[in-house]
Amino acid sequence: MRTGRGLTINTKITVKHPRGVVRAESASTPTDVVERVTPELGSLAAKQSVRATACIYCGSTARLSNEHVVPYAWGGNLQIFDGSCEPCRLITSRFENFALNDGAMVHVRKARGIQSRSKHENSRKEVAVTLVRPGSEQVERFPTSEVPLILGFPWLGRPGTFVGVESKGLTLEGWVTTSYGEEVQRFLAEHGATGMRVEESAKRPVAFARTLAKIAYGYAWIDGVFDTVQGGDELVRAFIQEPDRIGAFVGMKPPPFERYPNYQLRLEYKLWMPGLLVYMEVQPFADTPAPTYEVLLGRCESVRAWRRLRARFGSGFESAF
Ligand SMILES: [Zn+2]
Repeated sequence: MRTGRGLTINTKITVKHPRGVVRAESASTPTDVVERVTPELGSLAAKQSVRATACIYCGSTARLSNEHVVPYAWGGNLQIFDGSCEPCRLITSRFENFALNDGAMVHVRKARGIQSRSKHENSRKEVAVTLVRPGSEQVERFPTSEVPLILGFPWLGRPGTFVGVESKGLTLEGWVTTSYGEEVQRFLAEHGATGMRVEESAKRPVAFARTLAKIAYGYAWIDGVFDTVQGGDELVRAFIQEPDRIGAFVGMKPPPFERYPNYQLRLEYKLWMPGLLVYMEVQPFADTPAPTYEVLLGRCESVRAWRRLRARFGSGFESAF
């Protein structure tokens, strides 16, 4: 066990407006992180793009365009050519845009050097930070490269279907924050502060959950998992048309949180034994660490069928960019 850098569970969250400011107050607890080594994981970069003959979400054959499995702005280059029709592309690109430009995410992508079509033009040059000193609080502005970038991940329960709730919105229990860029302690010491607060705009956990679901679905689609696993169409319906049900399919693996050195994004197939549910662990920024999310793919007919799947794909999957 080691304590992850700046990984903190924040339970006192103030949301001033659903699309406005979210404040994670200092009433928060650092949490332990388990460091894992997974030599068997393959590389997402080595995976081949494939061509579809119809939209992988709705089956339409009209106006198809190429679909990135992992969003380009999260480092993804794996594509399903002709994989998405125009209406589905508009839906997925909208929630991906929300998720990838939410709060500090835009700065973190830049700080980590992830590819960007806009050359990170959305990343502001400066960030306003409230510095807490004994007896005073003051808002100061700093260049983005000189402040700790606090990234909040939604803290969710398990996917609803795991716990017998099949129709369910996202249950947000708090935020898990981790920091990138400048170290928090060094930054505080440098400015004689005992604490800091950053106000972020536009936290959209549902868009984030839909993005994770889309990644898991696209990846499993390429692997042909839905030949054996039933229920992929229900997952698609949840992230394309019925986001109020996304909580039935997307959740979070409970702590301890894990860190996988060298993996910017970790995708791994798993089996939820009760009910033979096949799901994918999706962990963005797995090297930092960040929470592991779970996306239910569907139901497997038998343990033997699951073993066959595992034999085909290995016990673990993938990916470093
Ligand atoms: Zn479609």
